[in-house]
Amino acid sequence: KFTSNPHEYVPDKYYIPPNFNASKPLNVRRANATMVMLARNSDLDNAVRSVRRIQDRFNSNFRYPWVFLNEEPFTDEFKQRISNIIDGEVQFGLIPHDDWFQPDWIDEEKAAAGRKKLEHVIYGSSVSYRNMCRFNSRTFYRHELMQKYKWYWRVEPDVHFHCDIDFDPFLYMEDNNKVYGFTITMYEYRSTIETLWETTKDFLKQHPEHLAEGNAMGFISDDGGEEYNLCHFWSNFEIADMDFWRAPAYTAYVDYLEASGGFYYERWGDAPVHSIGAVLFAHKDQIHFFDEIGYEHAPYQHCPREKKSWENGRCGCNPSRSFDYDGYSCLKKWDAFVGYQHKPW
Ligand code: GDP
Ligand code: MN
Repeated sequence: KFTSNPHEYVPDKYYIPPNFNASKPLNVRRANATMVMLARNSDLDNAVRSVRRIQDRFNSNFRYPWVFLNEEPFTDEFKQRISNIIDGEVQFGLIPHDDWFQPDWIDEEKAAAGRKKLEHVIYGSSVSYRNMCRFNSRTFYRHELMQKYKWYWRVEPDVHFHCDIDFDPFLYMEDNNKVYGFTITMYEYRSTIETLWETTKDFLKQHPEHLAEGNAMGFISDDGGEEYNLCHFWSNFEIADMDFWRAPAYTAYVDYLEASGGFYYERWGDAPVHSIGAVLFAHKDQIHFFDEIGYEHAPYQHCPREKKSWENGRCGCNPSRSFDYDGYSCLKKWDAFVGYQHKPW
């Protein structure tokens, strides 16, 4: 069923041919995919920088459409400056009120106490950050502009792409039955997800039928699922299959999380929620590490660890600055889990 392992190179057939001319009409096979960015109007300058970078490194060849989402209407300036640097379809969407803001049934006193408790943690006292994490965890793939697409590539303001991406990651994932692609994995702050794992275990007790065979539990738990080791995929970069999020297992899971109120009583990030979802409800070979994609979101960057990837991509990053084998990275654990042995150049 699975034709590739979680750490192989993307095969040549997914690369654009040497004589490829981006200005000609695209008659090559394409995926049902979109680029997506959630942003505030105040993120405009940084949004433009990110879009320009990924258009230059990837999307001017592939011309996948873009969707921008915001809980406030985008300004004319935002739309004009973004559209100016994208030579394909762009849509700007408004997030429905109830998909974004804290619901009335949340006990605000308890939520305020939770924010107070997390004052010392990054975004610990922010309500808007919680709105964002909850939206990214369980709602973005149901937005009306996203519904017609299967695949998405999440891009954030002011991220960097250090290498040419001359291959189509969506088609590669589609052909190989992947559901989730990542470039950076690390440990989460425990205090932001104090009860997330208990809640997850309660869900699994009630719905054991959703646990996938051959899942990647061994990556996020060192004792067979008793404790969560805090490893997660960094979700500011994601290439993934929204039909996986829309399917019964993940839907039931995030409905259960939502009912517990943990998005507001604690500060559950969309990164651990997506990661746990991918780990529990997919086969481990459906989760893919894209070594080829040099990526940076401050303060961390992934620079291709294989010399071949770094050279092929004409990467500008310094491989010795890569986060891959930093002490705070979980890539070593991922390697061990999938049976990959890294040989330094
Ligand atoms: P960090 O990466 O965890 O430091 O968080 P960011 O501030 O980068 O936010 C993550 C993503 O959500 C980015 O794409 C932001 O532009 C977006 N975002 C964060 N807060 C808001 C918000 O209140 N409204 C909107 N529309 N987007 C937000
Ligand atoms: Mn960010």
